[in-house]
Amino acid sequence: MIARLEELVPSYIKSFDAYIPSKPDPELQKLFGCDRLYRLNNNENPLGPSPAAQEILQRFSPPRAAVYPSGDSYYLRERLAATHGLHPDQILVGNGANEVITFVIKAFCEAGDNIITADKTFAVYEWVAIFSGYEARLTPLKDFAFDDQAMLERIDSRTKILFVCNPNNPTGTYWNRDKLCRFLDRVDGRQIVVVDEAYFEYVEKEDFPDGISLIDRYPNLVVFRTFSKMYGLAGLRIGYLAGQLDVVNIIRRACVVYSVNTLAQEAALLALEDKDHINRTRRLMREEKGYLRRELTRLGLPFVMHEGNYVMIKLPMSDTLAYRRLMGRGVMVRTMTGFRFPNYIRISIARHEAMEALVKGLEAILL
Ligand SMILES: *Cc1c(COP(=O)(O)O)cnc(C)c1O
Repeated sequence: MIARLEELVPSYIKSFDAYIPSKPDPELQKLFGCDRLYRLNNNENPLGPSPAAQEILQRFSPPRAAVYPSGDSYYLRERLAATHGLHPDQILVGNGANEVITFVIKAFCEAGDNIITADKTFAVYEWVAIFSGYEARLTPLKDFAFDDQAMLERIDSRTKILFVCNPNNPTGTYWNRDKLCRFLDRVDGRQIVVVDEAYFEYVEKEDFPDGISLIDRYPNLVVFRTFSKMYGLAGLRIGYLAGQLDVVNIIRRACVVYSVNTLAQEAALLALEDKDHINRTRRLMREEKGYLRRELTRLGLPFVMHEGNYVMIKLPMSDTLAYRRLMGRGVMVRTMTGFRFPNYIRISIARHEAMEALVKGLEAILL
C-alpha cells in the first residue's frame, strides 16, 4: 500500500461510497438456492432486442473485433439526425446514457459549481456530480413528481445544470409539454436543462413532450435517450444526447471517443427501425400493468404505477428483507432504500410468468 495513499485522495472521494453492483445471476442463484431467476431489478426489456438487431449480432464477423469502431458513431448519428430533424453534429453517442451524464457535467462544472435535481430520482446525476467534486442540490419530490418551483428556487449563480428525469425513474410521474415549456421559459437559458428521456418510447400519453422536438426553441436544452430500455440493448451500453449545435460542440470537448463499440452502433441502428417491436413491448406492458394493478390491490399493497416499464410497491417490512426472501423464490427486485424510499421495492414489468412469480412471492412473504 502507498504510504500516504490517504493524502492523495480528494475529500469528496474520501467521503463517497463506491456503488456495489449485484453479482452475476449464477452466483446469486447459488447464494439463494434458486434454480431460475426472474430479473425484475433493472427495467430491461423482457422481449429482448428487436429481431433485426438480434440478427446483426449473430452475423457479426469475429475478425472485425480487432478494428476500432467509428469514433463518433457516424452512421448512427446520421440516422438519428434524419429521424429527429437535426444535424448529425447535434448528437453525441456514449457508452450508455450513463456516460453522456458524465460528459455534460465535465463540460460545464468547475470547483464551486452545483447541479440541481430531485432527491428521489435516477441517482447517477447526483453521484457523478459529487464524486467529481461538485455540489448536488436535491429538491424533494411533490406528489411523487419533480417539483419545478422548488428546483427554480435552489438556483444560484453557481448552478450550471438542472436534471429532470421525464418520466421519473422510479416513480413514473412526468411533466407534460406545458409544464416542461413553462420550466424552460423560466430558466430562460441561464443554466443547462437536461431532460433524461430514458423511458421515452414507453410513454403513450398525448401530452407527453418529445424533448428533442423542443431543442430548436430552447438553446439550453439537452435531451438524453438510451438503447438500454425499450430497445433491449442494455448489455451493449449505448445511449445519446441531443442539443443545439453550440452546446453540443462544448460537450464534445469532454467526451471520450471510441467508447461505443461496433456491435452496439450497428445493433442500435437496426433497433431504431423496428416499430413492431416497440408496439409488442407496449402491449405487454399494458397487459401486465393491468394484471399487477389488480393483484396488488387484492393483496392490499400500496403501489406507485405511472409511466415507464416499472412499478414501486410499498411493503409492510424492510425492503432488504423482502429482497432476500423474494430471491429465495427466484424473483430479483430493486430495493428502494438507496433511492430514499425505505420499505419500497421497484419491479420491472415483464412477461406474465414473471409477474405471476412476483405475485406468488409477495403473497408468500406477506404471510
Ligand atoms: C437506465 C437509465 C439510464 C441509463 O441508461 P444506460 O444507457 O444504460 O446507461 C439513464 N437514465 C435513467 C432515468 C435510467 O433509468
